[in-house]
Amino acid sequence: MHPCLTCGACCAHFRVSFHWSEADPEQGGAVPAALTEPLRVHERVMRGTSQKDPRCVALDADIGRYSRCKIHDRRPSVCALVPASLEFGERSAQCDKARLAHGLPLLVEADWAGVVDAEKNPLPEL
Ligand code: SF4
Ligand code: SF4
Repeated sequence: MHPCLTCGACCAHFRVSFHWSEADPEQGGAVPAALTEPLRVHERVMRGTSQKDPRCVALDADIGRYSRCKIHDRRPSVCALVPASLEFGERSAQCDKARLAHGLPLLVEADWAGVVDAEKNPLPEL
């Protein structure tokens, strides 16, 4: 199983902000605006992540055991840009930082045993 499906730590550690247009259907945005709130002039943020002890409102998880993004195919681009450590050969500072903060061990190569390429999250083209 992909390690993110038993984790969710990064969705409960960082502020998830992005350009407002990603939550505006008229601009081609797909992120559900109701799950976001204004941040700075040109930014919105996922509700629940711009506060102490952040946890994204779209996260369905028991951190470290089970994790799903309820808006996976409509999530902000910044979410898709966070790779899991060693998913593509490199460590991910964000992944490592989030997992440590939640008391989870850093991912190692063995965590990827049996995960085929089709199950990995290709980074979107910008
Ligand atoms: S990217 Fe890392 S911290 Fe985020 S859900 Fe996946 S394994 Fe957990
Ligand atoms: S939108 Fe989904 S992937 Fe992004 S932080 Fe929230 S739960 Fe995680």
